[in-house]
Amino acid sequence: MSLESKINATLALLKRVERDFSPATLASSLGAEDMVLTDLIAKHAPGISIFSLDTGRLNPETYDLLAKVQATYGDKVTLKVFYPEAQVIQLFVEKNGINAFYDSVENRKACCGIRKVEPLNRALKDHKAWITGMRRSQSADRANLAFEENDADHGMVKFNPLADWSEKEVWEYIRGNNVPYNELHDKFYPSIGCAPCTRSVAMGEDIRAGRWWWEDESMKECGLHVKKL
Ligand code: SF4
Repeated sequence: MSLESKINATLALLKRVERDFSPATLASSLGAEDMVLTDLIAKHAPGISIFSLDTGRLNPETYDLLAKVQATYGDKVTLKVFYPEAQVIQLFVEKNGINAFYDSVENRKACCGIRKVEPLNRALKDHKAWITGMRRSQSADRANLAFEENDADHGMVKFNPLADWSEKEVWEYIRGNNVPYNELHDKFYPSIGCAPCTRSVAMGEDIRAGRWWWEDESMKECGLHVKKL
């Protein structure tokens, strides 16, 4: 399928979500895929809101992009930023240390729980659907990703409109439409998260090899997209 056909299919899905699943929202980590969806939503389906999570540990380049997104799309679509509960972070850091996530998987998951999962749940509250920029080719875990799935944990429908897009197509769209993107992508960061938990990858390395690289491959989700068994 050509990129143009994929863009049209993605637009049709976004418009259906806007029409039939209102209120719906895009969870944007400000990665390349989320920037494609942000651009499409702002231009063609502005009834869908967009939110990002500021974990307090993002890279300066990510904050720069957040400012660019607000300047570029802020008057076209609703953009919101959610933050962790200050008191909960304070207690966790006092007890475990500022970089506790390096000490154990348990601490890392607790940190993701406080800085990402709880704010995500707050951001999704009262919505009928949420949208992500996940793609099948990002990891083995995502190989069978559907465009639409029932998210029982959050009690709503979850849409992954770019499920069948390749990385090349994502970048073709970004370059072809002058979409702002995170400068870290130009420094070999294909997958961008919190600064202390993300590194660049070498040629040929897996896209997600730069996330939580000190952990076993099977542990590498932050809890945002994990289904409870
Ligand atoms: S990615 Fe790292 S710093 Fe960010 S919430 Fe998870 S453990 Fe904490």
